Amino acid sequence: MDKVYLTWWQIDRAVFALAEELRKHFMPDVIVGIARGGLIPAVRLSHVLGDVELKVIDVKFYKGIDERMEKPVITIPLHGSLEGKKVVIVDDVSDTGKTLEVVIEEVKKAGAKEVKVACLSMKPWTKVVPDFYVFRTDKWIVFPWEEFPVVVRE
Ligand code: 5GP
Repeated sequence: MDKVYLTWWQIDRAVFALAEELRKHFMPDVIVGIARGGLIPAVRLSHVLGDVELKVIDVKFYKGIDERMEKPVITIPLHGSLEGKKVVIVDDVSDTGKTLEVVIEEVKKAGAKEVKVACLSMKPWTKVVPDFYVFRTDKWIVFPWEEFPVVVRE
């Protein structure tokens, strides 16, 4: 699968752009960051928006590049209630959208009043198109916090 490499600079610009639109359209009470990939943008967004409360959920779905398990599994559940809160779920990318589907359900179960999704990126085939996103690509994205995959020619 072709790859695209994003830089820290692009990620920071993207987070500021997301923050600006969130301020205009949906200022959240709580951000739910999805580990691992969503945590860096989620933490940055919570600071840029002025210390918005951050909660964490961990969902495992991928084993490698474009290699998935049968279905997403929650390994760290949401802690506490979201009763009556406006919640933005933050992830790095919506690919199949299955991770976001699971997390949206959990956030609703925790009592959220309104739920929106913000991602740095989305794939054209996803079944959950984020309410806010910056990049759209059909390639495998390598984020700056990840190891760069090396091709070893045998
Ligand atoms: P989904 O459930 O939408 O298929 O995938 C969600 C998660 O899979 C993302 O949060 C991310 O951790 C991982 N993922 C999916 N596509 C990519 C990609 O192109 N690059 C990277 N680095 N991770 C991806």
